[in-house]
Amino acid sequence: MGKDERGKHEQSRGPLSPHLILQRTSKQHVREGVPVIERGEGVRIFDEDGHSYLDLTAGNTRPVHVGYGRREIAQAVYDQIMKLPYFTPMRFANRPASDLADALAEVAPGGIDHFTFVCDGSEAVETAIKLARHYHVSRGDLQRHKVISRRGAYHGVTGGALRALGTVNAMRQIMEPLAPGTVFVDSPYCYRCPLHLSYPECGIACARDIERFIEFEGPSQVSALIAEPIQQGFGAYRPPKEYWRIVREICDRHGVLLIVDEVICGFGRTGRWFAIEHFDVEPDIMTMAKGISSGYVPLGGVGCTARVWEPIDTFQHLHTYGNHPVSCAAALKNLEIIRAEDLIRRSEEMGAYFLEQMKPLESNPIVGEVRGTGLWTAVDLTTDGATRALFPMERMDSLVRRGREKGIILKYMGPSLEFAPPLIITREDIDAGIEQIEACLREEAEEMGLG
Ligand code: PLP
Repeated sequence: MGKDERGKHEQSRGPLSPHLILQRTSKQHVREGVPVIERGEGVRIFDEDGHSYLDLTAGNTRPVHVGYGRREIAQAVYDQIMKLPYFTPMRFANRPASDLADALAEVAPGGIDHFTFVCDGSEAVETAIKLARHYHVSRGDLQRHKVISRRGAYHGVTGGALRALGTVNAMRQIMEPLAPGTVFVDSPYCYRCPLHLSYPECGIACARDIERFIEFEGPSQVSALIAEPIQQGFGAYRPPKEYWRIVREICDRHGVLLIVDEVICGFGRTGRWFAIEHFDVEPDIMTMAKGISSGYVPLGGVGCTARVWEPIDTFQHLHTYGNHPVSCAAALKNLEIIRAEDLIRRSEEMGAYFLEQMKPLESNPIVGEVRGTGLWTAVDLTTDGATRALFPMERMDSLVRRGREKGIILKYMGPSLEFAPPLIITREDIDAGIEQIEACLREEAEEMGLG
């Protein structure tokens, strides 16, 4: 574990307050002790005890695209607070929100050119689902309420978002019954195909199958299909190249709106502004969060095409913190940094390097598949490369612990270790990270008797 050599850390402040509820953290984890993160700089974070860690997860939930410690963003936030900290998004506007909508219209894919802002990814998903319904209702199409999502999808934790949650099932099940009208289809996950087929002989059955579901549900009742362009649930899974075109065509045939959830993938994570650009398909509605503000302040957003916006007179939606001027000012500065430092191209280049360095890990007996797009990569783990048997969950926790002991922040997602470092990561940091990842995997395999 690395020590913070500059001695800037403060001494440990004793145990955590028993009054704080951590999110998605078991009491056992709390008893074992969770690190208290005190500060960050570049691609490193430091805990209260002075340990430093290379963060291969950009804040674990992956928003910190421009890295830690950006004074320019702090200054933009300060300036905006002093000028105007808040005013309602209803019947009033503010300049940062207007400028952010302009800035996004320049980089958003296809015809996405109308935007509104909320506080996070879940709210963006809620808003997108409402917007789709609003579009249909405004055109007199009152029956369209069903939303198609995919098993293995993650779209957040609030009511509408939970409707579309096809992974972390406990989160959804504990809140059931949810609003009716959710339809789950299979995900494109070729490494462990849910339909037990093989690409390309499968003819992309997982995509074609969506039409069967729509026909069964009644096309006149289906409002939207929501999906991540590259999916986190199995570990940064990129679908076959034909997948998105087929999905788009099916949606068009049945008047179903296509909502692309770019909450993780957006703002350079996959080496493009938005991941749907890899597939040459245009969405009707798009959600954003995380990299939009690099996590410095809470912000989410929704974009739609002129076609979707045109029939809606008044969007019946209002968050107190909608179009928040401070969050929008932070996002504008964040976008300026992404542009000035060419971080989209950098993600593509460094991502290719990361993947190249990760490939040899496939010789480890517990590694099934190494994959990635831009600076979003994953190592799919298995106890048996031939049958692709799932890796035990407790072993995932053990890998993450090992990483922490070696001074790197790791995370797992479904069956994979997943990597999403800040887009400013250097080759040297990648080399150092890979060395530790390799050691973690080797030690784990040995302990399991598979080494
Ligand atoms: N959509 C996707 C694809 C996500 O990955 C997430 C969060 O990880 C969300 C929505 C929900 O975002 P938030 O956690 O900001 O509410």
